[in-house]
Amino acid sequence: MRKIAVLTSGGDAPGMNAAVRAVVRTGIYHGLEVFGIPRGYQGLLNGTLTPMSLGSVADIIQRGGTILYTARCEEFKSEQGQQRGLEVLRENGIEGLVVIGGDGSFRGAERLAKLGMPTIGVPATIDNDIACCDLTIGFDTAVQTAIEAIDKIRDTATSHDRTFVVEVMGRHAGDIALHVGLAGGAESILIPEVPFNLETVIHKLERGVARGKKHSIIVVAEGAGRGMEIGKYLQEHTGLDVRVTVLGHIQRGGPPTARDRVLASQLGAFAVELLLAGEGGKMAGRQDGRLCAVDFETVFHTPRKPDGYLFDLADKLSI
Ligand code: ADP
Repeated sequence: MRKIAVLTSGGDAPGMNAAVRAVVRTGIYHGLEVFGIPRGYQGLLNGTLTPMSLGSVADIIQRGGTILYTARCEEFKSEQGQQRGLEVLRENGIEGLVVIGGDGSFRGAERLAKLGMPTIGVPATIDNDIACCDLTIGFDTAVQTAIEAIDKIRDTATSHDRTFVVEVMGRHAGDIALHVGLAGGAESILIPEVPFNLETVIHKLERGVARGKKHSIIVVAEGAGRGMEIGKYLQEHTGLDVRVTVLGHIQRGGPPTARDRVLASQLGAFAVELLLAGEGGKMAGRQDGRLCAVDFETVFHTPRKPDGYLFDLADKLSI
């Protein structure tokens, strides 16, 4: 193997840059030529490959976003698109590809692997919604950003005797809400994977009021419901002064935490080592603290559940 390429795709996540750096530097360390493909699969179809040097990834380990940019590309979901992508890689002499992204990006990576291009996926998404790995790159930073916001919200909630509904990201997975809710001492946590009843939330709020509690925080994952609607409902049915904050895209930005930088460095390097070992069609992940290579098929077919223990614990601690 002489030439490999790397791209970032789908939703951006803090730590993607650290992963790109690890791919480029590990590749060069092993004597490979490494190419960056800007703007994900769209860039691949456009045929824009950029040679990456050691210096091209200098000073990026601490930066959020992705220097390779990211994009969504409908065309790549078609067989013709995938075939064209394969041709571009072959025309440029690329013998292995690293795709840094989430579940959707892995589906594209799996197609390329099936067509014969050794492709390794590196899990990077703030939602932590990928099976067979403990953590995805970006999750730790997103939780840290959200907890800092919630601590600030708690200050004002306490000062004004208010109830706050805070909506965090997570369309299909409630991991951010769960971790932030537990770490932020939220009274209730609503996530898409666990059915909930707003009457239970109201009951808990009323129990709190009865014992003299004057402020509360309810964390809602966006996939469980809209914060605005939930806030309105709670205000109407309790008479409490309820305010809503939607944290939105700040959860995606900012410098990655040390934990995310370490994970990204490990997984980026491991992805290249897998390609060098002749592997393809796999995710480079970390499970139970150890590096592991898992077939995309297994990743796609393994159900992901939120941590039930943490969910119950958060509930117990917020009685
Ligand atoms: P993420 O990787 O963050 O989950 P998306 O779901 O938007 O983000 O996927 C990113 C890109 O991956 C899509 O724009 C598309 O180019 C590619 N992709 C997604 N699903 C498929 C699929 N089933 N087959 C091939 N490519 C796909």
